[in-house]
Amino acid sequence: MMISEKILSELERLHVNFCIDYELKNSCTFRVGGKCALALFPCDESCLALCVSLLDSYGVPLHIVGKGSNTLFFDGFIDKAFVFTSNVNQINVSDTLLSCGAGVGLVSLAAKACDMGLEGLEFACGIPGSIGGAVFMNAGAHGGAMENIVVSTRAYSRKQKRTVTITDNMFGYRDSIYKNNSDLVCLGADILLSRGEPQQIRVKMRELLDQRKSKQPIEYPSAGSYFKRPEGDFAGRLIETCGLKGMKMGGAEVSQKHAGFIINTGNATFNDIVTLERIVVDSVYEKTGVLLKREVEIVE
Ligand SMILES: Cc1cc2nc3c(=O)[nH]c(=O)nc-3n(C[C@H](O)[C@H](O)[C@H](O)COP(=O)(O)OP(=O)(O)OC[C@H]3O[C@@H](n4cnc5c(N)ncnc54)[C@H](O)[C@@H]3O)c2cc1C
Repeated sequence: MMISEKILSELERLHVNFCIDYELKNSCTFRVGGKCALALFPCDESCLALCVSLLDSYGVPLHIVGKGSNTLFFDGFIDKAFVFTSNVNQINVSDTLLSCGAGVGLVSLAAKACDMGLEGLEFACGIPGSIGGAVFMNAGAHGGAMENIVVSTRAYSRKQKRTVTITDNMFGYRDSIYKNNSDLVCLGADILLSRGEPQQIRVKMRELLDQRKSKQPIEYPSAGSYFKRPEGDFAGRLIETCGLKGMKMGGAEVSQKHAGFIINTGNATFNDIVTLERIVVDSVYEKTGVLLKREVEIVE
């Protein structure tokens, strides 16, 4: 695909920040990735919708990136336009309702909610994603999930070429309307919290973060739990019983601390990670009959 001069001059005319041949490695928590043809950095929700509609009108394949914390990028050239939501980070507060742009970070939002004495986001204080990515995945932890706090989302419908409000986001386990519908790009979400006591919220968040620190290899780059939780069991437990904890492939490793995580020990390649994934999936299936499914999104 060639990025035409016409698109670039259109982006300049619209004052959209962009970069050609953009390096992806530092835009994801796995710290793996090559370059993409074009990266766009819209500054707010309407600019995000505009970028998507512009790329669509030129037939340019695109991928949306939040914080890249649930994504593994191919480490060769990716011939697509990547739209980063990081600057779509506006927050409007109205009593206990937070209207957030898709690029607002969950960790900082949880801290802000705590300072304002708003409870309900504690579960998210250690999830390094964006609102858009968390809605897409219905991110959750410690018994909480996005589905419990999101009242509605704003989306750009690529088919209808307009912005729509979605009240039924069809949330399921790590699932939502966005995951099953590439027509929709999440522009932002309205999140309803309740009044609480800042000090109690802070203590709760600290407890949850301490639990995470003791159980998860957060000192290494990764994309969190690599596999979905199989029905009635845990991926980490199954992987451990199959003797795969600590298994290495190049720079990728099944974490010694939590076997459900594949970590980058420093110089892992895309291939190291997907090869290790295949070995884990095959051995777990052979030994237990359970077919593990990947939770991490691969973009190539
Ligand atoms: C250390 C660590 C711990 C983690 N712990 C948890 C946990 O406890 N619970 C949990 O659920 N997850 C966890 N994760 C995974 C991850 O943080 C979540 O899935 C998070 O919600 C992903 O958000 P993101 O912005 O990083 O998404 P990205 O990785 O940027 O994107 C994920 C997918 O969402 C799509 N997407 C992103 N933004 C939009 C948008 N605006 N519109 C449409 N599609 C969009 C992308 O195209 C991609 O397909 C963890 C990850 C790490 C690294």
